[in-house]
Amino acid sequence: MSDDSGMAIEHAEEQWSRVRTHLQTEFGDATFNSWLKPLRVVGQKDNSVVLSVPTRFMRDWVKSHYVDRIRDLWTREVPNLRGIELTIPATKRPALNGANPSYNSEGPAKASARSATSSRPPAPPRQRATAKYDHHEPPEDIGAPLDRRYTFDNFVVGNSNELAHAAARRVAENTSVQFNPLFLYGGVGLGKTHLMHAIAWHIREQHPGRSVVYLSAEKFMYQFVRALRYKDTMSFKQQFRSVDVLMIDDVQFISGKESTQEEFFHTFNALVDFNRQVVISADRSPSDLEGIEERIRSRLGWGMVADLQPTDYELRLGILQSKCEILDRVSVPGRVLEFLAHRITSNVRELEGGLNRVVAYSTLVGRPVTLEMAQDVLQDLLRANDRRVTIEDIQRRVADYFNLRLSDMLAKRRSLSVVRPRQVAMYLAKQLTSRSLPEIGRKFGGRDHTTVMHAVRRIEELRQADSNIADDVDLLRRMLEG
Ligand code: ADP
Ligand code: MG
Repeated sequence: MSDDSGMAIEHAEEQWSRVRTHLQTEFGDATFNSWLKPLRVVGQKDNSVVLSVPTRFMRDWVKSHYVDRIRDLWTREVPNLRGIELTIPATKRPALNGANPSYNSEGPAKASARSATSSRPPAPPRQRATAKYDHHEPPEDIGAPLDRRYTFDNFVVGNSNELAHAAARRVAENTSVQFNPLFLYGGVGLGKTHLMHAIAWHIREQHPGRSVVYLSAEKFMYQFVRALRYKDTMSFKQQFRSVDVLMIDDVQFISGKESTQEEFFHTFNALVDFNRQVVISADRSPSDLEGIEERIRSRLGWGMVADLQPTDYELRLGILQSKCEILDRVSVPGRVLEFLAHRITSNVRELEGGLNRVVAYSTLVGRPVTLEMAQDVLQDLLRANDRRVTIEDIQRRVADYFNLRLSDMLAKRRSLSVVRPRQVAMYLAKQLTSRSLPEIGRKFGGRDHTTVMHAVRRIEELRQADSNIADDVDLLRRMLEG
């Protein structure tokens, strides 16, 4: 690669910058920043382009998800393009955006000394002795207790959580930092906390020498405020900065609390500087976190951003089956599980809750679980679920129906083949959910509420004028409500 003339690379870089612009529009900022922005042109030969990717994990993911699209776009630049090669830099420490973290480290001297050790390229995971870390086991109470049930073994993987799960496993299994931070986000009850605990359990078992701290953002805040009160912020800082893996759950709770944000940000930067792994969760993506300073938001999105999407039927059924194995004292007929998976679609917590209630009832009254019993016991839960259709459901359903990708719903593409389905989806979102126009706009790749309003009107008109559209809309509505 390096023996190519600078001239060729220069061209390739210009081409790449145009291709990148397209990719960003098409896939949206979160995906772009995680996967595509870190790619660098390192060579061009015989009509092939060589791009470097920071880690093997990213290479595999880019290869299976984005490389075809990159090739298509690049073919517009170089019509006889042969292909795109992805390579991983040989010795460089994996760092996203090609940047080695280079913040001013304000940490204590001890920490700086360690930072020097860890800036060496990491040894392969298995040979890397955990004893290498000079440990200050963080005091018990800075973290929160872990739920014994939340392990990788008990986590059922499906399409909607595949990426988040893969990334969490990566973090758990490697002692070298993979991507920093790992940012997990998704609606309530979809498994964020479960995955974070699973990371912690795995590390505790496999690398007992590493210190892992898991806590909620609220607890982080509480401790910080307490430290302020007792004028003990120094040891507060030190505590956190001496951990190998720090996990903070539900960071949306930090929004608006300026001094805590500030401290959180410093702690976060310090850990990243010292090459420690940070894992963050929130109920929305970094760019959607309101009330959090822009520089913090953008910094949070620098590593890997993985979302947990609403579950599909197969995953829900899988989860119920796996929970039944754990329960094992009571047998629940397959029909009942299928019924629950069909009807409780809101989130996994409610799904589990439903199963538990049915099982508890059956044990209590000493009768076997039946479909009728489940319907009876869960009336309120079922009714609440019936009313709920989410914008994500609508986007996915509409994309499937028109043979588009989900990302087309959010992207800025303006061709009619994408615009019309997108308008249908916005129309359905307005009809079937209680979301406001601005909220709907935001969910569609950050569009303005006037765009949504226009879409709703347009589809109303078309339904009158074009029976095909009217049929499509009615069918979709029935599928979503059914
Ligand atoms: P969140 O933190 O995203 O609100 P949790 O991690 O607390 O959600 O998950 C809610 C419940 O659902 C937990 O009991 C968890 O074990 C369960 N759960 C969520 N996703 C899965 C999954 N894929 N497999 C098994 N259990 C799951
Ligand atoms: Mg949680």
